[in-house]
Amino acid sequence: MCAAKKLTPMMQQYFEVKRGLPKGTLLLFRLGDFYEIFYEDAEIASRVCGITLTKRQDYPMAGVPYHAVDNYVPKLLAAGHKVAICDQAEPAQAGKLVKRALTRILSPGTTLEANQLDESRNHYLCALHRDKHGLHAAWLDLSTGEFQLATDRHVADLLPVLTALEPAELLLIEGDAAKWRDAPHEDVDAHALHDFCHGRLVTELPGYHFETADGARTVLDALGVLNLEGFGLDEKHPGLGPAGALVYYATENLCAKPENLRGLREYRSATTLLIDPATLRNLEIFRSSRGTRGGSLLAAINRTSTAAGARLLERWLSAPILDLTEIRRRSNTVGELLAEPMLLGELRETLRHIRDIPRILGRLQNRLRNPRELAGVRDTLLQAPDIHRLLADFGETLGRDYPARIDELPELRQLLERALADDMPSDIAEGGAIREGFDAELDRIRSLTRDNKTWLSELESSEQARTGIRSLKVKYNGSFGYFIEVTKANLHLVPDNYIRRSTTVNAERFVTDDLKVKEKEILHAEDNALARERELFNELITAILDESIALAKTADALAELDVLAGWAVLAREWDYHQPQLDDSDVLEITEGRHPVVEQMLKAPDTAVIRGNQSFVPNDTVLSSSGEQLALITGPNMAGKSTYIRQVALITLLAEVGCWVPAAKCRIGLVDRIFSRVGASDDLARGNSTFMVEMNETANILNNATTRSLIILDEIGRGTSTYDGLSIAWAVVEHLHNDADAGPRTLFATHYQELTQLEKSLSRLRNYSVAVKEWNDEIIFVHRIQPGAADRSYGIQVARLAGLPPAVIDRAKTILGKLESDDTSIELSAPQAKPRKKISVKPTDDAQMNLL
Ligand code: ADP
Repeated sequence: MCAAKKLTPMMQQYFEVKRGLPKGTLLLFRLGDFYEIFYEDAEIASRVCGITLTKRQDYPMAGVPYHAVDNYVPKLLAAGHKVAICDQAEPAQAGKLVKRALTRILSPGTTLEANQLDESRNHYLCALHRDKHGLHAAWLDLSTGEFQLATDRHVADLLPVLTALEPAELLLIEGDAAKWRDAPHEDVDAHALHDFCHGRLVTELPGYHFETADGARTVLDALGVLNLEGFGLDEKHPGLGPAGALVYYATENLCAKPENLRGLREYRSATTLLIDPATLRNLEIFRSSRGTRGGSLLAAINRTSTAAGARLLERWLSAPILDLTEIRRRSNTVGELLAEPMLLGELRETLRHIRDIPRILGRLQNRLRNPRELAGVRDTLLQAPDIHRLLADFGETLGRDYPARIDELPELRQLLERALADDMPSDIAEGGAIREGFDAELDRIRSLTRDNKTWLSELESSEQARTGIRSLKVKYNGSFGYFIEVTKANLHLVPDNYIRRSTTVNAERFVTDDLKVKEKEILHAEDNALARERELFNELITAILDESIALAKTADALAELDVLAGWAVLAREWDYHQPQLDDSDVLEITEGRHPVVEQMLKAPDTAVIRGNQSFVPNDTVLSSSGEQLALITGPNMAGKSTYIRQVALITLLAEVGCWVPAAKCRIGLVDRIFSRVGASDDLARGNSTFMVEMNETANILNNATTRSLIILDEIGRGTSTYDGLSIAWAVVEHLHNDADAGPRTLFATHYQELTQLEKSLSRLRNYSVAVKEWNDEIIFVHRIQPGAADRSYGIQVARLAGLPPAVIDRAKTILGKLESDDTSIELSAPQAKPRKKISVKPTDDAQMNLL
């Protein structure tokens, strides 16, 4: 790009830094008050951020003011770029090339700055490695220090949690992504991995960064421990390879070892409720079908008031722990909170003042030190005594468990209260972070500055009196320091001891010997004050970091309280009840509702359109060894999908410890939730609707256990009727016949024929959605009732959908004939001459139209 021309020393320095960066990283190079961007980087930055592209000599260049860089970096990251920040490493001196060094590389998975992160979401960097033993993975939220690893022989068992984490960036071994993409069709796992990587930012690293032994060493070093026994991990754990890759990459990007890794936990799929990626999507757990957060289950049940609470809720939903004691503890705590409405209100009010301690610690530990973060620690600790007081008045779990986990840290609190100013500057260099009266030395220097400033203003009035120049001013600017300014009209009055410094259009500027002496004192005092403040600031940070473990533990407990208090509020708002969880094989829900649809029906804009319709509750009774399979028939739009999804969502809520939208609920622990609902086309990747449907069904049949919950909707729709019906039939038989007990299953279908199966399959029950008929029209009542539907009401639904009356009438005629086994149907087209009779066998297509 610059081959022929001789580079200036500054540009040589630029290229030296640039050469050391990973490919595709944009370099922001500090020059004075600007970050300058050159060549292709400048073109990209200009396009992404809308900044002006200029030319320097022959090459493109763009720049952003250094203090505004925070406005631009998030845009570059959001566009999937990595950004390297190169700063001046020493004060500039005229005529000398200033030293510069890389400060950090920002990538979507490793940024720490508050404005580059969504505060209510976790922010994971995830590394993956697949070999013949299975899938090995590790993930790290660098902003909070949460660090986990996992290994599983079955790729399908690890993908649920990885998908739920929604990593911001993936680290893979070079070439793996392409290998998975091009894998043969029967390598289902490779394709699942390819799907997982699709659309995410992938960073590839050489394979040696993923070696287990090296990884173990890197991880030990980062955690500052001698072995991993304290974390219950073997040093041969294959997840240590990816874990090491994460630490390596984070270190590269921070330009220093990450200092906030708190430990390493192993994730085990066997002790987690698994929800496969398709089901996470289908049930709209984290995002609605439109990809938005609104309309998801997460949004419907989130009543948290702190950022850490919102993130914990997301974590709980992404990997629900199958541990009855823990689930009951959470749900009993919700009960205790609900029992004391006044205290709950007060507790929630207190929690509103809690700041984001995990991320504050993450930044302080990794050299991002903003004075306001210290105030965040202070403000949080200030709430601790109130929280303790409130907890003592609650029931057993709250009064006993939580106070022990919430450390008041009174000494640190008092120190911060005494030391920090009420209004903190955003940069320590602005001064004013430390309160008057905290440090005698700082106060002394500050009073010197103040005295000197008084001296200056007195000088102004005494000089005005002495010279008789009323407009005489004592002023300051960055290049001349302090000076006396006299307008041109008054120059004849200037006394002899004034020394001329410079001239402006209307005035001349002077100094005196006394003023020069004072100026030195003032500037010196200001520098001293700032230096002292910086010293104290660093001492306070050390004091905070000395308590980082206690602070992190306290923050965890507060986040939990926040989620649970939010659930108590949710339960009160929407009349949720405590579910009963046990080891049985039943699933019994009385008057269950769909948590999201119910709220949507009440939302002001929907309520107007739907005429304030209320959600109709429905019961469910299933058990692996009893009524294992509920087959639900009924017209389209009657509420089948809503019903089967609500059962899955209620189960999930119950298993994370939340109360549920039902009058009563008992659930024998479910180990996996599977779904096959809706038709999501995947044509972009060459998969037809039918193929997607069959893949999802295969996944269910291959992986469901007796403890699983399966919801199936309209399976077999993507092919011809007979094919579809046969597949649906065989699937039902398979789910039923495999053993004495089978996965609890809800099967919604439009194939009336399947209802016959009740006669031969003892654990299958027919249900239908009730509809009322009125004057040849149907009214949906959304009530599930025992017994098969007698008709499909397709024509009535088509009328509701606005098909022209002539088409509806004609369809009715054809239906009548087909139902009476009269296979001759007259062509209705008036132009068709001569009219002839055709014979219609109910072929696939003809039947399709009827259904
Ligand atoms: P189906 O699967 O039978 O075609 P859906 O479950 O998609 O029907 O339901 C159609 C619409 O009916 C939904 O959008 C929802 O608004 C409404 N609905 C479904 N179930 C209920 C219910 N129990 N109470 C109130 N409205 C419901």
